[in-house]
Amino acid sequence: MSRIFSGIQPSGELHIGNYLGAVKNWAELQRSYESFFCIVDYHAITIPYEPEDLRARTREMMVSLLAAGLDPSTSTIFVQSMVPEHTELAWIFNSVTPLGELERQTQYKDKASRMESVPAGILNYPILQAADILLYRADLVPVGEDQVQHLELSREIARRWNARFGAEFFPEPQAKLTPARRIMGLDGSAKMSKSMGNTVGLLEPPDSVWEKLRPAVTDPARVRRTDPGTPEVCNIYHLHKAFSDAATVDHVAVQCRSAGWGCIDCKKVLLESMLRELDPIRERARDLQAHPERIAEILAAGADRCRVMARETMTAVKTIMGLL
Ligand code: ATP
Ligand code: MG
Repeated sequence: MSRIFSGIQPSGELHIGNYLGAVKNWAELQRSYESFFCIVDYHAITIPYEPEDLRARTREMMVSLLAAGLDPSTSTIFVQSMVPEHTELAWIFNSVTPLGELERQTQYKDKASRMESVPAGILNYPILQAADILLYRADLVPVGEDQVQHLELSREIARRWNARFGAEFFPEPQAKLTPARRIMGLDGSAKMSKSMGNTVGLLEPPDSVWEKLRPAVTDPARVRRTDPGTPEVCNIYHLHKAFSDAATVDHVAVQCRSAGWGCIDCKKVLLESMLRELDPIRERARDLQAHPERIAEILAAGADRCRVMARETMTAVKTIMGLL
């Protein structure tokens, strides 16, 4: 059976971009694959943060993942820093990763350009990510489009390590994308990202979702209510494709092209579709929040399971590399 691994940073609240691009897919794939899902807190400390916030966000992320449908009875769900072998393997991969490849990564260039002083962790981030995946020798990685370049580098790292030590030990992990592989923020100018503050949270109350949806950017050609639009260039239409049923999506496109609806009408229908999917998730989260001991138990069990597998990998890696 193929093994899947994927991670999410506790750098903010789980948003609908994370959900549509990755987490919803995880909930589906866990039925057919041996699955590992990781809250990657060592990745999240590469940007400025407050320790108490990180702790709270890590727990809240766990609640959101379970509410979104991850099932601890079939998947292993854990926190990265509870399994020290992630950073141990990352150091080893540091020794086979070309600096030029790291400097070429779009996410590095993007995040570094917004910082006055750039920590080395931002540059080395994809090395730790390769270690996360390859520690469990996973071959499939369900992620959003922004992670495709990092995964190419993970494959390169696996190839280089295998070639250097003459062992076919690590698989070359492949990305697995969803149709909603890149959700834009509601201002339409950048990818929806936890660190950009342009998100709609998965657990956000309906009135707050509407407050964000109402002023959201649509097709700029629709200046007046009577101006027809092009659904394909509108972020709201793309959200309909993710949340609404096929008949509604078709209807939305017709109403947009003919100026039958104004953008507010279109957004009201989107809100309905979103709430149909998000209401039960929000309810499950409320139940989970009332049982923090259950969250702690699941995390401890996940980490125990991972530590055993991680130690096995590291023993094999060290033997092959001539480390004692
Ligand atoms: P940060 O801004 O801290 O990097 P993020 O919102 O990009 O946060 P990550 O934790 O880096 O979230 O990524 C978690 C998963 O969500 C990854 O698989 C990533 O590809 C996916 N993802 C993130 N943003 C989007 C988006 N806007 N559309 C689709 N998928 C996304
Ligand atoms: Mg990200």
